[in-house]
Amino acid sequence: MSKKHYTIPVFIPELACPFQCVFCNQRKITGKQLVPEDSEIIFIIENHLKTFKEKERIIEIGFFGGSFTGIPLQQQQHFLELVQPYIKKKKIQGIRLSTRPDYINDKVLELLKKMNVTTIELGAQSFDDEVLKKSYRGHTAGQTTEAAKQILDHGFDLGLQMMIGLPGDTLEKSLATARKIIDLGASNTRIYPTVVIKDTALHQWYKNGKYQPLTLDEAVDWVKEILPVFENAGVKVIRVGLHPSEGLLSGDELTAGPFHPSFRELVLTEIWWNLLKTIPEKTKHKTLIIHVPEKELNYAVGYKGKNRKRLLTRYKAVKFIADKQIARREAFFVV
Ligand code: SF4
Repeated sequence: MSKKHYTIPVFIPELACPFQCVFCNQRKITGKQLVPEDSEIIFIIENHLKTFKEKERIIEIGFFGGSFTGIPLQQQQHFLELVQPYIKKKKIQGIRLSTRPDYINDKVLELLKKMNVTTIELGAQSFDDEVLKKSYRGHTAGQTTEAAKQILDHGFDLGLQMMIGLPGDTLEKSLATARKIIDLGASNTRIYPTVVIKDTALHQWYKNGKYQPLTLDEAVDWVKEILPVFENAGVKVIRVGLHPSEGLLSGDELTAGPFHPSFRELVLTEIWWNLLKTIPEKTKHKTLIIHVPEKELNYAVGYKGKNRKRLLTRYKAVKFIADKQIARREAFFVV
């Protein structure tokens, strides 16, 4: 039986980040205003540990939110030391963190290795220099490539995150970014559609017509193409869509763009529809029975039953059956 994976997220917001990527107001994204106190970090860890039920499990601490390796080395060491007792007692198996590609160097990587960091996720965002420049990312695609190689050379797992719909982006550029992430040897990725958050440069551009975000349908269409590229290459897609932090859902921070709390489900609904729509149309008096993999049943039926409703325009009745025998994303049907 495969082990259940858990990540305990600890958000360290922008700590004097000198960059101003057009899409970012880091404090707004994490929904946190302050750097957590040591006691708060311990509280978060202890609280999460109590909730994990499975015996066969791998637990990681994830330092997310800002550019972890951009903070002073001493402070990085301090945060990482808080976790060491849990690693020694084998309560936690590893540490992952996210950072910028240009905040990677040998000194940092040596410290992270010593402190039992297992995975480093880089915010690559795009491998197109024009998109990076227009987004004021402050680094080039070449720097991301270099950092990715260094991370792998030091024996870490590599994550490369990407954004779609940044200024100057196209579907082709995003697909090329996905392929580059695979070629560089990333074991995992996250795909974030760009949204417009209050008090960012993008918000200003949106208001004066200089930037138009993707619509939700467009973003779903793009990710519908991108997701299978990663799946076919065996790269784990940890997240699709921005994490619905309370700040974004309850306040007025999100001003425009393709945000949806069930974004991944919307994408998988469309991927399934591409499969299901090829089922030959018979007669409206027939019942269609479709066997799908157990894990994918909800996606096959579709978000709010969308695919079932689509099929019901062609058949009298539609029945989905979760089938443990089917491992891959495929459907067997009887009419
Ligand atoms: S995305 Fe990261 S690097 Fe860019 S401004 Fe925000 S915190 Fe700084």
